[in-house]
Amino acid sequence: MIPLEEWKEYVLSGIEPLPPMEVPLLEAAGLRLAEEVRTPHPLPPFDSASMDGYAVLWEDLLAGGGEAQLRVVGEVRAGQAWQGRLFRGEAVRISTGAALPPGADTVIPKEHAEETEGRVRVRGREKGAFVRGAGEDLREGEVVASPGDQLTPALLGLLASVGRASVKVRPRPRVGVFATGDELVEPPAGLGPGRIYDSNSYLLAALVREVGGKAFRGGVVPDSPGALESVLSAWRGQADVVLVTGGVSAGDHDYSRDLVSKLGGRVERVAIQPGMPQGFARFEGIPVFALPGNPVSVFVSYELFVRPALLKMMGFPRWERPRVRAMMEEPVASPPEKVQFLRVSLKRKALGWAARPTGGAGSHLLRTVALADGLAVIPRGVSQVPAGASVEVVVTREEVLLSGGL
Ligand code: AMP
Ligand code: MG
Repeated sequence: MIPLEEWKEYVLSGIEPLPPMEVPLLEAAGLRLAEEVRTPHPLPPFDSASMDGYAVLWEDLLAGGGEAQLRVVGEVRAGQAWQGRLFRGEAVRISTGAALPPGADTVIPKEHAEETEGRVRVRGREKGAFVRGAGEDLREGEVVASPGDQLTPALLGLLASVGRASVKVRPRPRVGVFATGDELVEPPAGLGPGRIYDSNSYLLAALVREVGGKAFRGGVVPDSPGALESVLSAWRGQADVVLVTGGVSAGDHDYSRDLVSKLGGRVERVAIQPGMPQGFARFEGIPVFALPGNPVSVFVSYELFVRPALLKMMGFPRWERPRVRAMMEEPVASPPEKVQFLRVSLKRKALGWAARPTGGAGSHLLRTVALADGLAVIPRGVSQVPAGASVEVVVTREEVLLSGGL
């Protein structure tokens, strides 16, 4: 057996961020930027009114001790530009967001003005009031966003406001998911004797989507020599990563293992439970993860090896889930030669988090995963965790941190 860290290092060291790609703005949501963006114009681009009212020259009000009687010479609405200049003694009716006429320097809100028969009486206290200055948000040429920035909804909005319709990002990895096994049936077809439904490819595809990747399920591949290789060849050029489940142990009909060896990769027994047999290779440069067949092993392997790889490909600086310390509410046993990842539910108590196993340790018990908020990490060398002991929990259902497990 090899240590968990060694396998993780082996798998992740060869994974690189995907080459940048220009995508439409909205498709970039949640991804990482791969270019520097500067604004080609100031933001806001021009001086404008922040209230509905009258554009005036402050000098007129100054002369009248903060009041003036002005001639209304027209109107400027949002989206229009006033032709010509505004002169002393004149006012222009202006809408919120409309460009200030040249010459004007102050806006008097409607509430402080009375208009009658082409003349308006205005009151004001300060020069420049209710004017949004050009460049107040960003100066022309200023950096809007830098490589590596996460494209949050607000940043996407800001990029649109400087005229961008698309941006260069680290794209979503296209992930092909293949399940191997003669026993597997695609739901909802009927189950024959000895057959089970393929759950792994749904589990994995959904996990990939959750992290931001593009998953497609490539269907069930039979247990026969060469079958997997011909499937991979058929999907050539359509995936950035391939995930295969099943057939990586030492059984007579475990052919994923053979493929990994043929591709010059490695199959190892990694000192974890569940998820001990692991394979990794490259098919024409594309990383291929050969994961075990048991659904719980699939989940744990994904969390430990695949998810970090996908985040690295998407240019994220951190690949780890949040971890909390929790008090184990029940005693648990663990194989001392391995690190155990035990499915637990979490609850926030007065003195911190409490963890409780969601079921047995068997790696076929997928419901224990469906009920879990995280994976309690039972380190190597530990064979018993007594009730009340403190454990570290990798939080896989991050909503629990907000809800407290209620
Ligand atoms: P294997 O690694 O191929 O020996 O499979 C280990 C166990 O996982 C066996 O009990 C398989 O039936 C089960 N298994 C393999 N693939 C899947 C799958 N896609 N969905 C559900 N169970 C599976
Ligand atoms: Mg199998």
